Amino acid sequence: KAAERKLGVAIVGLGGYAEGLIAPGLARTRHCRLAGIVTGTPAKVPRWQQRYGIPDANVYSYDSFDRIADNPAIDVVYIITPPHLHKTLAVRAANAGKHVWCEKPMAMNADECQQMIQACRRNKVALAIGYRMQHEPNTRTLIGYATAKPFGRLRQVRAEAGYAGYDAGDLQPRNWRLARAFGGGPMYDMGTYPLNAARYTVGTEPLAVSARSRVDRAEIFDQVEEHMDFTLEFPDEVRATCATSFGRSMNQLRATCADGWYELAPFQSYSGVRGQRSDGRRLEAVVEHQQALQMDNDALAILRGMPLRVPGEEGARDLRIMDAIFRSAAEGGRRIV
Ligand code: NDP
Repeated sequence: KAAERKLGVAIVGLGGYAEGLIAPGLARTRHCRLAGIVTGTPAKVPRWQQRYGIPDANVYSYDSFDRIADNPAIDVVYIITPPHLHKTLAVRAANAGKHVWCEKPMAMNADECQQMIQACRRNKVALAIGYRMQHEPNTRTLIGYATAKPFGRLRQVRAEAGYAGYDAGDLQPRNWRLARAFGGGPMYDMGTYPLNAARYTVGTEPLAVSARSRVDRAEIFDQVEEHMDFTLEFPDEVRATCATSFGRSMNQLRATCADGWYELAPFQSYSGVRGQRSDGRRLEAVVEHQQALQMDNDALAILRGMPLRVPGEEGARDLRIMDAIFRSAAEGGRRIV
């Protein structure tokens, strides 16, 4: 069979995740290569060019970015900026005729997600969201249980992800994760994991949500919530109780069924995702670079014209539910989604 070519990926936003996980992950992929960078910080350019052999012609700023349309070395634009920029950058990338990979949360709200989906459809390019867990082997097994039902009818899911962090120093200058206008706060950042996990564990779509947010350290959390608890109501009286936080460390996903239970803990770490079941069987941690796996799966889907595992529509479903979560937390009450 003819050797498949590698997709040239340009990273937009050279921050912590791009530098720590995505660029090293790209180096391990079989079907991608790091071909270009888009950055607002010229000082970062020489280091990236040297480390990854990126030619001048493949270096862009946010201003010059649209010229990427004329660059055949770039097939995919991977957006790894704060969330408030995802929509605009995705639409620009699509209009430049490039496939779009975008980090979570997909955008600030469901309406922005629709604009991204439309732009990619119009330009006939792919749109994949960086939900690495849906590519992780033990998570795939757990997703399969939603239909295989090894312990009978699913009754309840518990999903929680958060970390304890931040202090007054994060306000000078303000960390974007503490700024509302940038898409900060634990719900957008870590809440994506329990929300998406609840949906893939149950395997159906929620009908209603209710949510409550809380702040313990008001001097730091003056714009965004510090904790968010939310409950998703699924068909057949299945419930998912979920939590996320910037004040408390948690990382667990558990499904309770009629005749037993199963869980992954941790369920969203970069490595070491492992699980157990009420019958004593274990899901041992798999040694895998999640981001490399994700990017190879997405690249192969594009190269072979196959469906993406996590298309824009999947990210958009979460943002629609998040819109309802934020409304419920602000105004109280249960929201139909
Ligand atoms: P960082 O703050 O470390 O990096 C963000 C980068 O975005 C900056 O370095 C900067 O790069 C660029 N940027 C452009 N405009 C702004 C702005 N106004 N303020 C701040 N940065 C700006 O964030 P992370 O790398 O941690 O997160 C980036 C995205 O990746 C988020 O959407 C986050 O949710 C997601 N993420 C996903 C993870 C996952 O496991 N899937 C894990 C971690 C993050 P430059 O200077 O090059 O322009």
